[in-house]
Amino acid sequence: MKVTILASGSKGNATLIETNETKILLDVGLSYKNLVLKLIEINVGINEIDAIFITHEHIDHIKGLDTLIKKNNINIYLSHGTYEAIVTHRKFGVTYEYFNICKSDQMIKINNLDVIPFLISHDALEPFGYVLYEGKKKLVYLTDTGYISQVNEEKIKDADIYIIEANHNIEMLMCTNRPWNLKQRILGNFGHLNNEDTLYTLLRIVNVNTKFIYLAHISEEANNHDLLMLTVNEIFSNYDHYDKIKFFIAKQYETSEISEI
Ligand SMILES: [Zn+2]
Ligand SMILES: [Zn+2]
Repeated sequence: MKVTILASGSKGNATLIETNETKILLDVGLSYKNLVLKLIEINVGINEIDAIFITHEHIDHIKGLDTLIKKNNINIYLSHGTYEAIVTHRKFGVTYEYFNICKSDQMIKINNLDVIPFLISHDALEPFGYVLYEGKKKLVYLTDTGYISQVNEEKIKDADIYIIEANHNIEMLMCTNRPWNLKQRILGNFGHLNNEDTLYTLLRIVNVNTKFIYLAHISEEANNHDLLMLTVNEIFSNYDHYDKIKFFIAKQYETSEISEI
């Protein structure tokens, strides 16, 4: 299983997951043109994509979707709520026959990849995180969630790779000029995870097999990459297998380093 994050953050999200039989995208929050260009840079054609999984309807996760569905016949998987929000509320073109509505905890098989969506807590109609398996190899994709419930903690534990939100540093967020109600939205149960909450959760759920952690959906204004890595070091320094984990910062405008398990 191979991971490349094409973009991550409030201005657009898209991640490519590949196995020897399958290529899927998680979110298409870049313009279609930019998405195709970013894929070409890593020698992948958009026509090679077997399926697309959408987390929720916010524009930074679906920006390229309307053009993509006009030009391609790719199966798109999403929750009923996300489908409703996209098709009905945004009046998103005509109904597309390749939309597949899926339920939380329902496994979807794409060749040798098993994808299991799970319901998360965010200010969207029915937002999903995803757990992916290729045999015993496990990857977790979780961004845009105000908190991680105990039930979800069970679902995402012991993964080989995590792509997980570390959105903001609370003090930095409070020091921004953003209006009070926006700060409350971000901090709330339906907002975004802060650095400490993410890292303490990770500390509880990683195991000796965990190899790569991408910290994702990082706020440009209310976070800082050096500070985030210092916080990683503080929180993980006493963890026995810290030296076995490679942490990456997923960036908004740069394609990430590729990891493979
Ligand atoms: Zn987002
Ligand atoms: Zn969102």
